[in-house]
Amino acid sequence: MPEFKTSPGTRDILAPHSGRWRAFQDVFAHTVEAAGYSYIIPPMFEDLDVFLRLGETTEVVTKEMYDFHDKGGRHVALRPEQTAGVCRAYVEHRPITPWKVWYAGPNFRYEKPQQGRYRQFDQVGVEALGADDPLLDAEVIALAAKFYAELGLKKVHLSMNTLGDAGDRERYSQILLKYFSAHEKDLTSDSRATLARNPLRVLDSKREPDQKVIAGAPAIRESISESANQHFDAVLRALDALNISYEINNRLVRGLDYYRRTTFEFTSLALDAAHTAIGGGGRYDGLVEALGGKATPGIGFALGLDRTLLACDAENTFAAPTTAVQIFVVDTVDGRHAHELCHLLRQNGVSADRAYDLRSIKAQMKSADRSAASVALIIGSDEVQNSTIMLRKMGSGEQYSIARKDVIGEVLKALNVK
Ligand code: AMP
Repeated sequence: MPEFKTSPGTRDILAPHSGRWRAFQDVFAHTVEAAGYSYIIPPMFEDLDVFLRLGETTEVVTKEMYDFHDKGGRHVALRPEQTAGVCRAYVEHRPITPWKVWYAGPNFRYEKPQQGRYRQFDQVGVEALGADDPLLDAEVIALAAKFYAELGLKKVHLSMNTLGDAGDRERYSQILLKYFSAHEKDLTSDSRATLARNPLRVLDSKREPDQKVIAGAPAIRESISESANQHFDAVLRALDALNISYEINNRLVRGLDYYRRTTFEFTSLALDAAHTAIGGGGRYDGLVEALGGKATPGIGFALGLDRTLLACDAENTFAAPTTAVQIFVVDTVDGRHAHELCHLLRQNGVSADRAYDLRSIKAQMKSADRSAASVALIIGSDEVQNSTIMLRKMGSGEQYSIARKDVIGEVLKALNVK
């Protein structure tokens, strides 16, 4: 047993999976940059207070935060998500609106690790600040849908809901509190505890006994303002116009406290119930103000990389890219030829690798095989004497001698590069 292992809920991402992660982010970048979103890299840790503004009844904040005092005595926290950091950056830099940004990278939550749930996990997401337009809500949702389609996912389900405006949400909370309190004895003890903190979150419970009570709960749309209702209708019509299918789920409340109006979640129908949520988002009008800025509307989403890749596995799509070098150089003389040839090839834009420690030709040929390079260049004492190189096409086994001075041209020809 090694002395050290990764901490619970963290992993080393090795090849080929690491390449898949990078490709995932590349596809995302391509998708959202084509819609005018620019890349932002918020810091991994911020003042704890930045995250506390997400809402004191949010579980991510109350139970799962990685917070600590740094050597300067500041109380900081590793980011549990990136919306708060982006909104803090907005207040700090006062960019021109609408400000449309995208991000990718790890977040940290002290959760119970299990498949699809980690303490360090990656998300990609967008945020669009400074516009209240329902067409922007639909644009953001359409981008997520487009990204899933780019990955080749077909079994992605979109649930839509509205949480009304700030006052509506509060009013609805009170209505729910009354309703759930009247049915308290039928709720699980976990939900009773949640009820005391945040009645809305009881709707999130997936526990069987709670489900029956939840099914009879009043729906939010009955208690929201006319303007919030109109906004929601406009979002749905805009989704219809783009042929994006969705289902209205008036029990969808989602995790963070600052959500207002439009809220949505993507689930994978290819995954089993425990980790079907692969992404979600919504409007968070109010968060910028909570962070000390001028009242500014905002909408965004975050998609979980791990779970989306699990969905890709389940649908057999978006395989890890292959990363083989083009050339493998075998040098049985002294290693110096491989050293110089690799350098020359790389200088000329051809990827190349080699073996070290002057191993036997058999061992080096095995390494060449394992490298999955399509061409091997072999140099023994005969080749050195004649200033030649043996070029071997690894697929067919065909091999022939080339003049060493022509190596780049011959390699490009063998690789079929024009
Ligand atoms: P949230 O920021 O909680 O709205 O989560 C957005 C998405 O991030 C979820 O739908 C999941 O796909 C993913 N996610 C959230 N928490 C975790 C976690 N602990 N481990 C892996 N993925 C997560």
